[in-house]
Amino acid sequence: MAKIGFIGVGNMGGPMARNLITAGHSLKVFDLSEEAVNFVVQSGAERAASIQDAAKGVEIVVTMLPVGGNVRDVFLDDGVVAVADPGTLFIDSSTIDVESAVAVHEAATAAGFEMVDAPVSGGTVGADDGTLTFMCGGEKAAFDKARPILEGMGKNIVHCGGPGQGQVVKICNNMIAGIVTLATSEAFIMGEKLGVDRQVLFDVISTSTGSSRILEMACPLPGALAGTPSSNGFKPGFMAKLMLKDLRLSQAASQMAGSPTPLGAVATATYQQHINNGFGDLDNSSICKIIDPNVK
Ligand code: NAD
Repeated sequence: MAKIGFIGVGNMGGPMARNLITAGHSLKVFDLSEEAVNFVVQSGAERAASIQDAAKGVEIVVTMLPVGGNVRDVFLDDGVVAVADPGTLFIDSSTIDVESAVAVHEAATAAGFEMVDAPVSGGTVGADDGTLTFMCGGEKAAFDKARPILEGMGKNIVHCGGPGQGQVVKICNNMIAGIVTLATSEAFIMGEKLGVDRQVLFDVISTSTGSSRILEMACPLPGALAGTPSSNGFKPGFMAKLMLKDLRLSQAASQMAGSPTPLGAVATATYQQHINNGFGDLDNSSICKIIDPNVK
């Protein structure tokens, strides 16, 4: 069992850290939010006083932060890379831009550390029940060391390629998720306006060709499926502003690859409008409000 420093214990990192404790690891946690830290300390983690404190005296550092700038802040300058004990393995599970992932990986490698980018899919439900998919980038040897730790938090753990390649796969996945959430919202609201009951739409489409994991697990329309953010006042879950972040990452990746993503571009602009309307902190499924602001 390993000593792990865990930095960023929000909606995803909190339950992930708790599952590592359940798996028998000992954890030191740090977050800018005291409330977030309390949640994991109640499950048996030690409270770290700072980023540096969380990164020292451990064998593994796991980070789960919002954006690439946060990951650079935590690892670079006087952060994790400067203070970690020799031989510490770094695992960054945040969803961030490929450029930041590669830059942090290079800084870690130059200082003699191994690192894996390991963004996840599966949402807060997957984080809670330990069934996340991890998409990993980095050297195979680093991936092999990270795997037993990731197994404490997920079920499907895939080595996607070299540094940053986990992020590439994650960005492709989330571009599809954003497009499908918007497409599902459009279709359901149109169907209802033409007189069909929402539950009937759900029961039929969820077993037909219009179905998706989005519909089956996180139907964006309230009430059709119990336990979803939409059925709980759009409480996140996965915030709309984070979906916009990922869609923007997809558009940067599209440029980098010279590969057109017309539907990704529409989804990006639509989520931008939704955030401008003041809904960034709601679950991303609240995008249905842009089709019908009165949706209930
Ligand atoms: P969140 O905002 O709930 O949690 C992030 C935490 O990081 C917060 O508690 C914040 O205080 C902390 N933080 C930010 N900067 C920090 C710093 N410098 N030092 C210490 N702590 C810091 O976000 P989340 O939903 O947990 O998402 C985290 C990452 O996971 C994002 O990149 C997101 O895109 C990705 N993700 C989220 C979901 C989801 O369903 N929520 C699913 C898959 C991937």
